[in-house]
Formats: sequence, structure tokens, C-alpha cells
Amino acid sequence: MTKRKYVVRCAHGACKKYAFTWLTFLRDTFRDIHALLLDTWKTSSVVFTIAVLLTAYIYYTANTRIKVKFHRKTQTCKRSSWSQAISDEEDKPGVGVGFVNLGNTCFMNAVLQCLCHTQPLVDYCVRGSYLSDINHRSPTRGDLMRVFADVVKKVSESKTKNAINPYQLKSEVQRYAPRFSGNSQQDAQEFLRYLLQGLHDDINRVKVSSNMTIRRDSGSGDSFRTWRKYREIDDSLIVDLFAGQLKSTLKCTICNNDSVTHDPFWDISVPIPEGGRTVSLRQCFNLFSANEYLDGANKPYCEVCKKKSRSSKKMEVSKFPKVLVIHLKRFSATCYGQKRNVMVDCPLFLGNISELAAQNCTGDGSYVLYGVVDHDGSNNSGHYTAKCRNPSTKEWYEFNDTRVTKATDIISHKAYILFYIQEGSCRL
Ligand SMILES: [Zn+2]
Repeated sequence: MTKRKYVVRCAHGACKKYAFTWLTFLRDTFRDIHALLLDTWKTSSVVFTIAVLLTAYIYYTANTRIKVKFHRKTQTCKRSSWSQAISDEEDKPGVGVGFVNLGNTCFMNAVLQCLCHTQPLVDYCVRGSYLSDINHRSPTRGDLMRVFADVVKKVSESKTKNAINPYQLKSEVQRYAPRFSGNSQQDAQEFLRYLLQGLHDDINRVKVSSNMTIRRDSGSGDSFRTWRKYREIDDSLIVDLFAGQLKSTLKCTICNNDSVTHDPFWDISVPIPEGGRTVSLRQCFNLFSANEYLDGANKPYCEVCKKKSRSSKKMEVSKFPKVLVIHLKRFSATCYGQKRNVMVDCPLFLGNISELAAQNCTGDGSYVLYGVVDHDGSNNSGHYTAKCRNPSTKEWYEFNDTRVTKATDIISHKAYILFYIQEGSCRL
């Protein structure tokens, strides 16, 4: 019988590994005893049966003990060797805390970090204000919001540098949106949209059953009236913070008839212009609002001409939200596998937001950058990290799953999603 060495260690705070090594140990022990018995008492089946029962008993008691131990460790994980060490300099309150990677979940961790640095959302969760807003008729009956608030509370109350395990949140997200099941890499922006929608459904102050189909059509005509109509159905803190409005204008090239619609958005996806090593955020917005011609198979129906006609399409922001999330379209929809690594020069401070918008846009004022989701790598394989500004110290930190370090360059060619907050809306 060879002696095996079982190392009990928690990599990245993943306590599961601890249990796994113990179970492997037990399985191997069982196999060894079995082999030994067969060697020694080849013919005695009675002895073998007794041995099996005895082993089963040992396994059962040991397993129970392990479960208890495992459970306790998961809860506290206090031993220093259990979590990845961060330099002592950063072991101060207010630095923030990392998240355990549950297998390609860096997309979730990076988005969560930015949301955990969204001050009004943090206040809402920490104070427990969401409890009175829970919509028991939503698809997850409020469970997604509860586990999300739990994560936010753990982050803000964390006095140690031990990473937080967001497995409960992941399983709730999977329940709400099964596309996030499994361990494959996902798109951070898509995840953010699903998460915001899910949280909004859970705390919608307008209590509607999930079975009820609500007509969430694009509103035509007046932007203000459309917005009011939207808020009659969708009213939550998530909407208060993240929802803005897009105006899209279709103009028939034959009769010049305008058809205007207004749609709410959680984030704005801006394209990156071709050419140049560095482009400005303003250039991205200009391209976003540039006229696009719909021709051929894409021709829309014109109500005046009573037929499909070549039209121009223009998208503009008609209302900026308090928290402006900008998604840089780095992954090309046309050429699969391509990622644009152009440096987009995004200012840390946006002095006048309306410069990025169309005329007659509601919402002005200045915005401050407080979070960036970075993507490093290609379309097929890559890694997400986040950089966030601490609301009290105003210092920037980089969050790479469990690792938290001081951030050096805030905007780089990796910047993928930007979080801006309107000045003065830090406390609601
Ligand atoms: Zn027409």
C-alpha cells in the first residue's frame, strides 16, 4: 500500500476543493482496503461483507464530520492561508474585496464590482430599503434581489480582505436566465442587462404578475409622454438609476416623412470609428448618432408611401440616466472573431453630458467615471477585470477576481464597459 499525500488547501478561497480532496482520500482508502481484503482473504465473502459495512460506517461518520467542517470553513474561512494574500498596505477598510471565480465567472465578478461601487444602489441594499419594494409576482419572487443585496452588504461590511463567494447569486441568475448556466465564458454587457432587468422585475413598485403580458411597445410621439407611460409600468430604483431613453428617427427618402419612436435603455452601445490608434468617446457618440441608410431587404414600411421605402435611421439619446453605462462595441458583429483593441479616450469627468446627445435632450450636468469593466484577450478567450473608484477615498482599485490592487492606468485599450454617475446623485 503506497502512502498518498493529500494537500488540504483552498485555492482562491474555493472551499469546494477542500471537500473534494477529502472525498478523493476516502474513495482511495476504500479502494485500498478493498484490494487488501481481496489479497488476504480471497475466499471469505463474509469477512468482505463485514469489511464493506465497516468501511461504509467509517465513510458515513467521516463524511458527516467533513461536512460540518466544510460548512464552517465556507462560512468564515478565517485562516490566512485560505485566501489569497494581498499586500498589507491594502488591508485597510474601504479598499473593497474580491470575488471568488466559480469557473469562468470573471464576467460576473467584474460587473458585480462596478455595481458594488454604485453608491445609491449600495445604500439601497445596505439600508434594506429593497425589502418593502419586493415584488412577489416577479419571475424569481424577489430571490434575485435578496441574494444580490446580500452580496452588496457583505462587500460593504467586509472588514477583511477575504474574497466573497457569489455562488448563490450565480445560481439565482441561472434560474432567471438559464443562458448563464454552466462554466462557459459570457459577455459582461449581456450579463449586466439581464441582471439589471432581473433586479428591476424583483423590485418593481408596480406589482404585476409575471404571467401578465405587458405591452412594452416602443412609444411614438412625444418623448416626455412616452417616458411617463413607461414609468407607469416600470418603476423601481433600477429604473431611477440606470434607465435612459433613446430616440430613433426613421425618415423616408421618398416622401421625407419622419417616424419617431422612444425606447428605454439600460446602457448605450456605441460603435468605435475606424482608423486611428486613439479615438475619443465623443467620436464614438457621433458615429452612434450618424444617419444610417436602410435599403434593400432592410427597407422599412412607410405609412405615407404605403410601401417599403429606402429610409434613413438616426439614433439619439433623448434622456440620460443618473448612472450612465456606456458599452464600447469592441466585438464586431460582422467579422466574427474580431476584437477592436483601439484606445478609446474616455474622460474621467464629463463636464457637459448634453454634448454627447442630440438636441432637446433632457438631462444635463456633469458625470464622473467610477467604474470600468476591462476585457483582455480575443473574442474566443479573454479575461474580465474591473477598476472602480472608492466613493469615500476617491482612489482607484483594480479587481481581478479575488485579487485587489491599486489601479494604475484607469482607461486603457481594454476598457469595455464604462460606468458614469451624475454628480450630486451619490445620495438619493
Ligand atoms: Zn414615404
